[in-house]
Amino acid sequence: METYKNFINGEWISSKSQKFVENRNPANTDEVLGMVAISPIEEAQAAIKAAQASYPAWRKLPPPQRGQMIAKAALIMQERKAELARALTLEEGKTFKESLGEVQKSINVLEFMAGESRRIAGETLSSELPSNFAYTLKQPMGVISTITPWNFPVSIPCWKIAPALVTGNTVVFKPATLTPWTAVIVTEIFQQAGLPAGVLNMVIGSGSGVGEEFVTNPAIRAISFTGSNDVGSHIYNHGAKRMVKVQCEMGGKNPVVVMEDADLELAVEGTIMGAFGSTGQRCTATSRAIVVETIADQFIRQLAARAQALRVGPGMEPNSDMGPAVDPGQLDTVLHYLAIGKQEGAKLVCGGERLTGPPYDKGYFVTPTIFDYVTPQMTIAQEEIFGPVLAVIRVKTFEEALDIANNVKYGLTSSIYSSDTAKVFRFADEIETGITHINSPTVGGEAHLPFGGIKGTGMGWREQGRTAIDFYTEIKTVYVDYTGQRRQSNLY
Ligand code: NAP
Ligand code: MG
Repeated sequence: METYKNFINGEWISSKSQKFVENRNPANTDEVLGMVAISPIEEAQAAIKAAQASYPAWRKLPPPQRGQMIAKAALIMQERKAELARALTLEEGKTFKESLGEVQKSINVLEFMAGESRRIAGETLSSELPSNFAYTLKQPMGVISTITPWNFPVSIPCWKIAPALVTGNTVVFKPATLTPWTAVIVTEIFQQAGLPAGVLNMVIGSGSGVGEEFVTNPAIRAISFTGSNDVGSHIYNHGAKRMVKVQCEMGGKNPVVVMEDADLELAVEGTIMGAFGSTGQRCTATSRAIVVETIADQFIRQLAARAQALRVGPGMEPNSDMGPAVDPGQLDTVLHYLAIGKQEGAKLVCGGERLTGPPYDKGYFVTPTIFDYVTPQMTIAQEEIFGPVLAVIRVKTFEEALDIANNVKYGLTSSIYSSDTAKVFRFADEIETGITHINSPTVGGEAHLPFGGIKGTGMGWREQGRTAIDFYTEIKTVYVDYTGQRRQSNLY
């Protein structure tokens, strides 16, 4: 049985930990994929030391040379695509097709960031003084922590590590304990791409152990975190105490608004994909459908038919449309919200239970669930569930839909289906989310565009796209005086 190793200072090292947990396949819990060491804090400290030691030389390397290594990582990931997607499906549960999609997204991110290495640019500006000018530099900060969740364990690490490295920082990476295998492969790919020892270090361990060390160690100059709101606010607090940059991407409660003039088939298709794709375990998952009353019955009828036709099963089975919940904890959370939905009086349209009988008994499978007549204040309309559960809220007008869409603490993504351009652009203007989609699902994003949320979802800088570079760099302003004379004018 493989025990996943840590990658410290360019070497794969077995943890000295005496504490292990099993990495089990959520579609078949008889299958133990590997053993996960809960690494001690000393191993996290060794990783930070290695990252510190490698920083001066890495910082000096011209950015295009750093970018070439990221480009190489993209090529290697392309070669290892099927292997990586398989590991992802086996340990996280999403379907193999979804895993291939996530790996492709990661390749896109690496390609894009490799190109950005040639565009790390500041500004050149004129001066208030004659024969003077000024320019700005974007410079790395030092050792950066990346702390990532289990639901996109390939792409999220890539969209943090690649911009951190391209800009000249060195990295310590703590993957989610539930997804160590993909973390090992992603790290191997960066190693194969030729990174010098110590530039990227990966330590598997608990949030309260390795995670805390990667947040509180004085050598850490910035922290990029994706995960839950509880952990995010805890990390932000620590960052505030030490005055280090923190970036947090957290939960969502993403709405799709369906208007009377929508292409209903398109809206049904997009809502199914958004709500049940990746078993609803996406920060961008559609968890509320806000539907205009006049078309609600027809929309829900079509939606329920599509939801019931989804084939739930192990992600490696080619026929499966939807895989299991990631672990018993996530399964319990989903079952808990299903019970609350029923208790609070929402009408169960379909699903609503754990799947039993072979082969389901061995996995954490739940049925795709739709609740109708959900009111905006119900728990299932307000809290992130992170499972295949959709709450339908009926409304009379566009204004009411917009109001309800905005009336949650989160603000990651949203979507509207309508053929009325005035409504569509008003929605784009007034919806309180960091990303919005018109006539397409709430999910998905492209590597060259900013990604992230507002309000309770996102703290700080956007990820991906060119703006990603801003988080990983500090700006330095350089004043140049080429008069060779004592200054005549006021000095501020
Ligand atoms: P989580 O429990 O917050 O864990 C995220 C990461 O933080 C894991 O690596 C975890 O380690 C670590 N961690 C836990 N406690 C820590 C601490 N005290 N100090 C430092 N690190 C700590 O989140 P999750 O359950 O893995 O992921 C689900 C959440 O992520 C959902 O809320 C989802 O919406 C959000 N998400 C957001 C986005 C976005 O871009 N907005 C994208 C994907 C997911 P362990 O694994 O060892 O506990
Ligand atoms: Mg968690």
